[in-house]
Amino acid sequence: MSKPQDISTLPAHQARTATALIHHPYQAPGGFDAVPPGVHKASTVIFENTAALHTRQWQDKSGYTYGLHGTPTTFTLEERLATLEGGLHTVLAPSGLSAISLVDMAFLRAGDEVLIPDNAYGPGKDFARVELARWGITHRSYDPQNAEALAGLITERTKLLWLEAAGSVTLEFPDLLGLLRVARQHPHLRVALDNTWGAGLAFNPFQMPDPQDAAGAIWGVDVSVHALTKYPSGGADVLMGAVITRDPQLHHQVLMTHMRLGLGVGANDAELVLRGLPSLPLRYAAHDAATRQIAQWLQSRAEPSQVLHPALLDSPGHAWWAELCQAAGGLVSMVFGADRYSTERVHAFVDALQVFKIGYSWGGPMSLVMPYRLDGMREHGHLAGRRGTIVRLAIGLESPAALMADLEQAFQVLA
Ligand SMILES: *Cc1c(COP(=O)(O)O)cnc(C)c1O
Repeated sequence: MSKPQDISTLPAHQARTATALIHHPYQAPGGFDAVPPGVHKASTVIFENTAALHTRQWQDKSGYTYGLHGTPTTFTLEERLATLEGGLHTVLAPSGLSAISLVDMAFLRAGDEVLIPDNAYGPGKDFARVELARWGITHRSYDPQNAEALAGLITERTKLLWLEAAGSVTLEFPDLLGLLRVARQHPHLRVALDNTWGAGLAFNPFQMPDPQDAAGAIWGVDVSVHALTKYPSGGADVLMGAVITRDPQLHHQVLMTHMRLGLGVGANDAELVLRGLPSLPLRYAAHDAATRQIAQWLQSRAEPSQVLHPALLDSPGHAWWAELCQAAGGLVSMVFGADRYSTERVHAFVDALQVFKIGYSWGGPMSLVMPYRLDGMREHGHLAGRRGTIVRLAIGLESPAALMADLEQAFQVLA
């Protein structure tokens, strides 16, 4: 058996090479400028001397100290996302769900209560139900279309109110302005919005003019959370989330919790989102136009008991959507009541689809379908107590005609 080779026993020229490959004398000239921002990768960041080590600041983005605390790539993405959402500060997290749990952990402590809308993203509700409960933080579910009822739920223990517009499966649009009017009577209540559906394009979460307020009030949330996994990435190839704020103190609170949890994102993933952002407004408009067309066509069909899409006149919360939004995103859902179709029949319809693929998430190029059990899904609103199946369609970037033809042939299964 040959002895393991120690670098100190390498011939002299090989040893010099080993070191030179790490400390190489060549320095590429500065001034390289290109359309995409550079992709900088680092755990270690190098300090030129101990003075730099002790004075450099990462919290205000004036310098770099460690990969987890930011790189030119993540800082650039954060600034662009703040612009997208109408905010001033952004913190990146490894998924949309981790951005939600980060906000919970930054603003809640034992004894507090958080209020979560009935139609909120399910895994975020599970985080409250299981994890927050273990730390003595309680949660309650509220009806996002009943601002008056919300007023009755807020106590001095309520420290965080979650909003979501629209619900990402049931697509009811909440009384967002009404809920904010109520929340703003409680100055110590933080308001966070899951803005994945609106993507910073359907409305500005930090600046919502209230037409019903005589004094011309403009409401805004404190925190906007965005699953970049969806529209900003646009490629169905990356998981990431963002927490966006305007208030420097709230941002600092999120930033410190983020640091202590050690939440970081990889440079290659940040690059993918940076690459998606320039085409985001165009893609969102394309998803929006195709989805409206398909939603209207679905409404003319006999098979679904109900079509849910905020721009449809009879979809729950349509008036609140129309008051606030210019766009409606790429999701549309169909209700199949248990009185007309068994779960098996609806699943056979889903299985018959060819262009639509069965899969979670949305915002990518490929159209997706997902069936959900309606029974027990909602405590409040028009779907409470209903039985049957809800089928959500996430409309991709294929031609709407091809998608409608696919739905039409699959509907034969229900005939
Ligand atoms: C997908 C989604 C999330 C979570 O994002 P992930 O990156 O998949 O963790 C959060 N909220 C909404 C509304 C979503 O659709």
